[in-house]
Amino acid sequence: MRKETKRSAYLLLICILASVLAAGCLGPKTCDMCNGVGTITCPTCGGSGSTEKSIPYDATCPRCGGDGQVITGGVEVLGHVVGGVTETCPECGGKGTITKYRTETVTCPKCGGNGEITCPKCNGKGEV
Ligand SMILES: [Zn+2]
Ligand SMILES: [Zn+2]
Ligand SMILES: [Zn+2]
Repeated sequence: MRKETKRSAYLLLICILASVLAAGCLGPKTCDMCNGVGTITCPTCGGSGSTEKSIPYDATCPRCGGDGQVITGGVEVLGHVVGGVTETCPECGGKGTITKYRTETVTCPKCGGNGEITCPKCNGKGEV
């Protein structure tokens, strides 16, 4: 008789423990991606809010100086090339300009300059 009581008490304890564990598993948990903040550092700009972008622009061809043509095989006499053959500039293909790139700091398109984005794991709630 005493043994039975002890056993049911033990079973009850297991039931309580199991329900506590189940509640712990099913209930909201702090998001481990954002530590419950709801936002994470923007991966695109690393939190700075801005990124560098390459912007193309036309620059005068350094080979032909914008003429689109170069003279090869000539002899330079007093600053003038004499006796050479005029050819289409191989550098710019006759356009006289080449495309160069300059980097410009622009607002990060991912976070809009905030440096942080809504946590994708918890959707900004901080809990999962
Ligand atoms: Zn989160
Ligand atoms: Zn960003
Ligand atoms: Zn050129």
